[in-house]
Amino acid sequence: MNVVNWTNNNNESQSKSIRQSSETLPVIKKRISKRLQKHIQDTSFKELYKQQKLAEIVQKAMERNECQYEEYDEIKICGEIIKLNDKVIIKNEDSNVEDYIGAINKICSVVELSTLKLICLCEVQWFMRKNEIICHKPRARSWIGNQEIFSTNTNDYVLAQTIVQKCTVVDCEEYFNMENCDSTTYYNRLEWDVESKKFTNMNTIKLYCLCQQPWNPELNYIQCDKCQKWYHFECVGLKEGSYENKEYACGYCN
Ligand SMILES: [Zn+2]
Ligand SMILES: [Zn+2]
Repeated sequence: MNVVNWTNNNNESQSKSIRQSSETLPVIKKRISKRLQKHIQDTSFKELYKQQKLAEIVQKAMERNECQYEEYDEIKICGEIIKLNDKVIIKNEDSNVEDYIGAINKICSVVELSTLKLICLCEVQWFMRKNEIICHKPRARSWIGNQEIFSTNTNDYVLAQTIVQKCTVVDCEEYFNMENCDSTTYYNRLEWDVESKKFTNMNTIKLYCLCQQPWNPELNYIQCDKCQKWYHFECVGLKEGSYENKEYACGYCN
C-alpha cells in the first residue's frame, strides 16, 4: 500500500478558473479567501500527518466533509489478512528497541478529497513487554518470561504499513503446555495500568516457592513429593540437575 505524498497541488486550474470567471471582484475575492482557508485546513491535515498525530487525523476525517472516512473488518498487509481483534507486531522506528505488540481494535482509512491521498490506519490496544515493565518494577525481572506480555488500558492509531505481521497471544496455561512455540507466540496473564504503573490484577495470579513469585516458564522448578508445592532450585538451596528422579521433601514437609 502506498500512502501519502502531499506535494500534489492544483494551483494551475484554480488560477485558470479565476481568469475565466465573469464574476464581480468581491465575489472572486470571497472565493479566493475561501480557497486559502481550505488550503490552511489541508496544511494542518498534512502537518498532523508529519507529526504523526494519527488520532487527530481520524477525528478530523470523521468530522469533516472533505475527507472520506471508512471502517473495515479486515485489511491485507504484505499479503497477510489482518482482522479485527488480531494480535500484531508493529514496527518500532527505533531499530534498537523491540517491535511493539498490539491488538487491532479498529481498521479505517481516510481519503483527503482535495488531494486524493489515502491513509490506512489501525487503532491498536497496546501490550507491554518485559523491558517496559521492569524499569518500573525491577523485582519482576526474575519472574517475567521473555515471551510474556501485559495487556494495557491504552490504545493508539498506527499507520497500517507499520504492521509487520500477525502474532499469537495465548493465556499462560496454554503457553506452559505448548511443546513448541516460536518467537511470535506470547502469553498474557496480567494487565498493566499505564498511568499508575501497576498491575491491576496481580491478586488473580498464583504465587509459587518460598519467594512467592508468579510462575516463570523459563526457570526450572522442583516439586515436593509430599505437599506437591513447587520451588525454585536456588531458593531451596539445590543445584539444578542434582535431583532428577530423586524424592524431594521441602523444608516444611521434611
Ligand atoms: Zn523461589
Ligand atoms: Zn512440601
